[in-house]
Amino acid sequence: MKLQQLILGTCLCLLTACTNGHKTGTIAHRGFWNTDGSAQNSIASLVKADSIGCYGSELDVWMTNDGQLVVNHDHIFKGVEIQEADSRTCTSLVLDNGEALPTLQQYLAKAQSLDVRLIIELKSHKTPLRETEAAQKVVDMVHEMGLDDRVEYIAFSQHATREFIRLAPEGTPVYYLNGDLTPQELKAMGCTGPDYHLGVFKKHPEWIAECHDLGMKVNVWTVNNADDMRWMLEHGVDYITTDEPVLLETIKGGL
Ligand code: MG
Repeated sequence: MKLQQLILGTCLCLLTACTNGHKTGTIAHRGFWNTDGSAQNSIASLVKADSIGCYGSELDVWMTNDGQLVVNHDHIFKGVEIQEADSRTCTSLVLDNGEALPTLQQYLAKAQSLDVRLIIELKSHKTPLRETEAAQKVVDMVHEMGLDDRVEYIAFSQHATREFIRLAPEGTPVYYLNGDLTPQELKAMGCTGPDYHLGVFKKHPEWIAECHDLGMKVNVWTVNNADDMRWMLEHGVDYITTDEPVLLETIKGGL
């Protein structure tokens, strides 16, 4: 009897892990850049994330000093402080794969021919006013390009997060990145859920179930090693943001 219970228990555990593994979406952090011919936040990284079947491809957006939206992670990229420079200066910068630093419009135009979802991070700008202006422009551009149903928004800034919740069409997922709000606080804010550093969930594993109980989704960044990936899958997070999407897909497939 004990052996039967053990076998049944093991099967149930495997089934749970399997189910969790398959439902967890892979998000390529700054696109799928860790591969030949790619670079962080390049258009190639978006195409490559799509080509391996990722749920989403994350990108970072800044607004330049002349009000244009460009895609890059760094506050200062190749000596240029993006939010203090004009768009011409920014788009003349060259990424490590030889592409010019893309505008958001170029990025979205390529996305129109792909299936992968766009996880758009608005970087924290110098004033709340700049963040409001940038968030409005991002939401408008996404709408004009027919991509309302393909985007999710993320931000470290509470102000920017609140602005996306206010400005994006109802039902658009909006996650908060900074790790300092509880599930209850995120729910009250109107967030879809947390998109927190993996260390936050290691410290508060109970937050994952708490979010689910509140009807929210859970995303986690940036999970790059196999042990952490397995921990997150076993704890049933909904999305994993990673620089190693192929490794994650392999682990999910092997569960
Ligand atoms: Mg980012």
